[in-house]
Amino acid sequence: RSDSIESILQRLQSENVKFLRLQFCDILGTIKNIEVTQSQFAKALRGEVMFDGSAVEGFTRIEESDMLLRPDLSTFLVFPQFSREEGERGKVARLICDIYLPGGTPFEGDPRRVLRRQIERAAAMGLTLYCGPEPEFFLFERSESGGGTTRTNDHAGYFDLAPIDRGERIRREITNKLIEMNFEIEGAHHEVAPGQHEIDFRYAPALQTADAVSTFKFAVKRVALEYGLLASFLPKPVAGVNGSGMHCHLSLFKDGSNAFADPNGEYGLSDLALHFIAGLLEHASGMVAVTNPLVNSYKRLVPGFEAPVNVAWSTSNRSALVRIPAKRGNSTRAEFRMPDPSCNPYLALALMLAAGLDGIQAKLEPPPAIQRNIFKMTVREKRHHKIRELPTNLSEAVDALERDEVMAAALGEHVLGHYSEAKRQEWAAYSATVHAWELERYLDLI
Ligand code: GLN
Ligand code: MG
Ligand code: MG
Ligand code: MG
Repeated sequence: RSDSIESILQRLQSENVKFLRLQFCDILGTIKNIEVTQSQFAKALRGEVMFDGSAVEGFTRIEESDMLLRPDLSTFLVFPQFSREEGERGKVARLICDIYLPGGTPFEGDPRRVLRRQIERAAAMGLTLYCGPEPEFFLFERSESGGGTTRTNDHAGYFDLAPIDRGERIRREITNKLIEMNFEIEGAHHEVAPGQHEIDFRYAPALQTADAVSTFKFAVKRVALEYGLLASFLPKPVAGVNGSGMHCHLSLFKDGSNAFADPNGEYGLSDLALHFIAGLLEHASGMVAVTNPLVNSYKRLVPGFEAPVNVAWSTSNRSALVRIPAKRGNSTRAEFRMPDPSCNPYLALALMLAAGLDGIQAKLEPPPAIQRNIFKMTVREKRHHKIRELPTNLSEAVDALERDEVMAAALGEHVLGHYSEAKRQEWAAYSATVHAWELERYLDLI
């Protein structure tokens, strides 16, 4: 086996790897790592490296703060060289870890654990969730001093071929590095806004996708930095143009084939697919605090920029929260357009799966699909179609999360408690700030 301790030790040696990163992520989605050197490789692979969990935000426990990092051996990766100096210091490899308490029980505050719990729930029903994400991001210039700006140096638009500007060239470099890191890239293109890009990679089971999204964000930022640019996954960095989403193409597989497809079903979808979609719609407001976690996320979820505002689904229209792409057969899937790339991908996928499974278990029926542009509907028309709106800011979103028992239970008490507390603090800090908009609008006038 290529992922046994012995074979990984051999590869570390034959590739002359100097540093091994033991990677995990905190509740807010920040990647953390502990780097060990050659003498510790064997111990690290056996899962015997300890760290102080109380130093990690959202991990604090008074009783036990010593935690163990147990590497998931299937995530082994030798990083490509991002720069010449780095090459001289020696090769770096990584393993993504699950977090355990010293007694051998999984730590409930580990986002990977939260996702694993839902994956196990699905497995008990014979189901596997696959996800193909479409992360969008901006490439911005850096100032003289190296800080970030929101200036872009290109004026291209959606799928434009010319002019090939600096952003395009760097996107190509990013894509090449991702391929070196074993990503199967399905497409890379310019997005609607100036300086905005999207790189899509192949769909995979949920846990692999969550790992891949964190690795992707790291790699994109790292390559951009090498070329003097800033890559940002902030959902709405520039007002008045499209924000950055991370649409998730979701499908369930059963016995190796797509369980969403049914040529005889309504819209060519199985009952299972319809229940899953109904579950996504039912819990959209409850999960939005996790899939769209920043104060800034809610500035993307406004009408007119291809991001969803209303809880509805469609087989054609891109203003809906869930869109069903035309492909059927093994490619049958639901495109969930709500999440943005600032989310913790483990928690976000856990809640998408929990919502869909709840739809299946409770046999929820989706409302009729809406084929019209919802942004152009009047309030009365929306009321007639019983179309609800998503929470409009982070504060409402956290309220909705705490009210939604299914979403709260999926996160578990530990994660829910720390997550809501962190998000309420974030909202309080934002609310107490006087913003440029207020001064511009009111200072002279009042
Ligand atoms: N950027 C849009 C969003 O915020 C999506 C645009 C697209 O992929 N067509 O979701
Ligand atoms: Mg796309
Ligand atoms: Mg896109
Ligand atoms: Mg899309």
